[in-house]
Amino acid sequence: MEWYIPAVHGFPSPPMDKVYVSKVFSFTPDYWNFINAKEVVKSGSGYCIRMEDGKECYQKENDNQLTYKIEHIYPDYSLYPELTKDTAYGFMSRGCPRGCDFCHVGAKEGRKTYKAADLSEFWKGQKNIVLLDPNLIACKEWKDILQQLIDSGAWVDFSQGVDIRLMTEEKTGMIKHIRTKNIHFAWDRYEDRNDILPKLKMFKELTGWDKRKLTVYVLVNFDTTIEQDLERIYTLRELGYWPYVMIYDKQHVKKRG
Ligand code: SF4
Repeated sequence: MEWYIPAVHGFPSPPMDKVYVSKVFSFTPDYWNFINAKEVVKSGSGYCIRMEDGKECYQKENDNQLTYKIEHIYPDYSLYPELTKDTAYGFMSRGCPRGCDFCHVGAKEGRKTYKAADLSEFWKGQKNIVLLDPNLIACKEWKDILQQLIDSGAWVDFSQGVDIRLMTEEKTGMIKHIRTKNIHFAWDRYEDRNDILPKLKMFKELTGWDKRKLTVYVLVNFDTTIEQDLERIYTLRELGYWPYVMIYDKQHVKKRG
């Protein structure tokens, strides 16, 4: 298996048996060039999530879902040599019960968090682990997952939002024993203020971690006012967290004067 890059192969590129094309966002332009292959398979969120009757749905176009065997195969990290130098990437759980209006996870992976893999499926002693789970601590096997991460002794980056609303002292205690490089939470819906703030305070007190590894995503341009955006940013800073602003529908955002 190798990257299909016509500019590297020269033009016209040599014929390939099969070329897989993927993209994350539906608004990014499609690959414009001719693909010299017997078969081209397009998939990923950018191709498969569509609106139907005002609701997002995940279309399994051309029956091109990966099989169970491929989903669970050890990743071919040689495709990304720089990014994966001593770093493993993967999901231990999938899905999320929340169903936030601005998020694809429910349509793509389902409205329930389930355990998707043991760590050993994508990690073989690398120094760093980047987790991509959308709502890890909503998974009923959260204890097993956190224990595997503790036992790994690797530096872990919880790169997606860990659901702070579901945080408990027990979960915090286990996370504290993981060599955490960075943990990301989210305060997307302003109205969750009273659920989120006490949990953020509890997590900060119990871990004593520095804000450099405590990031909180802050969704803007969805349903909040600029005053609510600023309030979230200043409040998070006061609590000792690092606010990270995420702009919804960035390509159509209107400048506010
Ligand atoms: S909690 Fe996070 S993963 Fe779950 S639906 Fe909301 S934004 Fe998506």
